Amino acid sequence: MTATLLDGRALATRIETSLQGEVDTFATVFHRRPRLVVVLVGDLAASGSYVKSKAAAAGRVGIDSEVVRVPASATTEELVALVAAIARDEHGPADGILVQLPLPEHVDTVAVLDAVPPDRDVDGFHPENAGLLSQGRPRFVPCTAAGVQRMLIDAGIETAGRHAVIVGRSDIVGKPLALLLASRGPGGDATVTICHSRSSDLAAITRQADILVAAVGRPRLVTADMVKPGAAVIDVGINRIAGPDGSGKLVGDVDFDAVRAVAGSISPVPGGVGPLTVAMLLANTLLAAELRAGRG
Ligand code: NAD
Repeated sequence: MTATLLDGRALATRIETSLQGEVDTFATVFHRRPRLVVVLVGDLAASGSYVKSKAAAAGRVGIDSEVVRVPASATTEELVALVAAIARDEHGPADGILVQLPLPEHVDTVAVLDAVPPDRDVDGFHPENAGLLSQGRPRFVPCTAAGVQRMLIDAGIETAGRHAVIVGRSDIVGKPLALLLASRGPGGDATVTICHSRSSDLAAITRQADILVAAVGRPRLVTADMVKPGAAVIDVGINRIAGPDGSGKLVGDVDFDAVRAVAGSISPVPGGVGPLTVAMLLANTLLAAELRAGRG
């Protein structure tokens, strides 16, 4: 068997096309465009490239964006004050506010993220948004989790009554995705198991998965013998490894070539969940603008 490829890039393009129309409608009604302000701390190459692709995608759908760059030496207090100033629109109208992670080690990341007002929290990391999601009344859903669910729905992969195993329990990906897949409705109603670094006999659990999601950050963590034949395998991981010629190469958490021969469908890295994460950020930014304009 060769698994069907879940093309996140193509789906993201379709989502962007539909968002473009909605953004234009918003602009016609409110005489302004939704606007996203991104805080980029330090000069990590990966963070810089993520921010660049988010700003480029915003531009493609007609969302304005600004990147506020801050040196890596910034303190927690300075960053909290900056986010508060952005929330007062001192850096222009800020419908959505996003703090690119990771922050430098000396910074209290939770304190900085908590400073983002929950109604502009387009990453969905604020405890109020996490709480709403856990109660089954989502507002801003973390973008990667939302992207994975969208991918499953779009591919017609049934979740209701099926066993979804998520490897990774982060607040950013694993936990919100577990809540989404277990919630009622389309793309939900699954029986969900969360695995993590302390799970024993991981392979015995992953082999029970109809839908297997890897969100760990370890190249080739998921090998072919860990996958039930015909399962849907979604690879969230992004790992930079040395390529054959010594140059950098992006891979996921799944041993792609071997797993592809066993799975029913599989998402690639790159070109899988990554583009959908960005598309969901754009959708959240439009939602934030609509909420602010009183029509959300
Ligand atoms: P994290 O480091 O916060 O969490 C990793 C999780 O993996 C932890 O819950 C840990 O318990 C678990 N884990 C670690 N080793 C394990 C093992 N041997 N077996 C089982 N579980 C193990 O990471 P994160 O922020 O959730 O990100 C996970 C991966 O997803 C990273 O590679 C990250 O770059 C990637 N990511 C991709 C996107 C995207 O848009 N595609 C977005 C966010 C994160």
